[in-house]
Amino acid sequence: MATTEVLVMEDTIKKDTTRLTTDWQAVRKQFPVLQQKVHGQPLVYLDNGASSQMPQSTIDRINRYHSAEHSNVHRGIHTLSQRGTDYYEETRKKVKKFINARHLEEVIYTTGTTDSINLVAQSYGRKYFREGDEIILSEMEHHANIVPWQMIAEQTGAVLRVIPMTDNGELKMDDFHHLLSDRTKMVAVVHVSNALGTINPVEEIIEAAHARDIPVLLDGAQAVPHSVVDMQKLDVDFYAFSAHKMCGPTGFGILYGKKELLQEMPPYRGGGDMIDKVTFEKTTWNDLPHKFEAGTPPIAVGIGLGTSLDYLNEIGMEQIEAREHELLDYATQELSKIEDVRIIGSSAKKASVISFLIGDIHPTDAGTILDQKGIAVRTGHHCAQPVMQHYNIPGTVRASLSFYNNEEDIDRLVEGIKYVKEFFG
Ligand code: PMP
Repeated sequence: MATTEVLVMEDTIKKDTTRLTTDWQAVRKQFPVLQQKVHGQPLVYLDNGASSQMPQSTIDRINRYHSAEHSNVHRGIHTLSQRGTDYYEETRKKVKKFINARHLEEVIYTTGTTDSINLVAQSYGRKYFREGDEIILSEMEHHANIVPWQMIAEQTGAVLRVIPMTDNGELKMDDFHHLLSDRTKMVAVVHVSNALGTINPVEEIIEAAHARDIPVLLDGAQAVPHSVVDMQKLDVDFYAFSAHKMCGPTGFGILYGKKELLQEMPPYRGGGDMIDKVTFEKTTWNDLPHKFEAGTPPIAVGIGLGTSLDYLNEIGMEQIEAREHELLDYATQELSKIEDVRIIGSSAKKASVISFLIGDIHPTDAGTILDQKGIAVRTGHHCAQPVMQHYNIPGTVRASLSFYNNEEDIDRLVEGIKYVKEFFG
């Protein structure tokens, strides 16, 4: 008993020590974009939910590819092509490890979360959805996890069912359990809400859906950059995310899918690379993962994501998560002190997103003034219009934090909000 206690304590101390020894100031210096002034003021970048910044190492890696390595992948016999293919495929191995997928073929390259979800909706949906089948989504989905399902529903006669949420921004789980039925053919839910920061109880969702043999897709766009995600532990069927929200470049993303499901699914797009044999009579498909990767891919950015993953691993996702929680707690505490600031989304489990309104000042007006102070926030509906409809508001101001932000950024935001209040009297 005593030994266990000591071990637990040592473990805690070890974790805390690693967190405290990370030099976050040095980390911040590795992001060149953050070292500039905007409207004469040092930039405070709080729009990481929309897109995060790249470290110098990723920028250098992409430059190196363009300056010394460029050539098309997969089809060339010459040195550059083979080398490029190796580098590009190396990223797949790194992603597999990062998300703890069981097989390399389960990591499908896409252009981002949106593309990944469209792939599943069109490929899986076209094969399996029938008239009257039901697809369960939630009220807090990003449009990327609504519209593709609406489109396939229209094509197949399936219908959407929606898990409602509370005013705190938490899913009503009793309603979810009641929505599950023999008609349900897919559950597609956001892991972490980009508009509210809510971390959803995805384990419970997956377990309940699997008890009825229903597959689950998680939109992990806001989860992968901020926490450890483990495909085998989650036992999720499909998982979608984007490179540009995890210190990687734009134009690249991942669809994780269980091998046995992907094997049975038809290709999404046709063209080069995804084929085995082509005749005018019939074409056969390449093996996974290439069956879903038609045409020349975004090679440079794919290689760039590999470097970003090395970077995140070097810091450690546990540390990133802990630091971002620290920042979220500080931001919540400081913003709550300002009269007339209303925080939208107060789920018990939250990631580093803080959505708010300042009195009755329109979010766009607030964002414009904050920009004048060098503070980059996002304003509007955050591609989650049903969330805004829930609260009957036009949108919010959203500060989304990353590990390279600091307390000073939050103090500047607080000053900025006070200035917005003064400005609008
Ligand atoms: N889902 C969520 C939760 C998001 O935050 C985003 C990006 N705002 C997306 C999907 C879409 O990602 P992308 O535009 O990279 O495809």
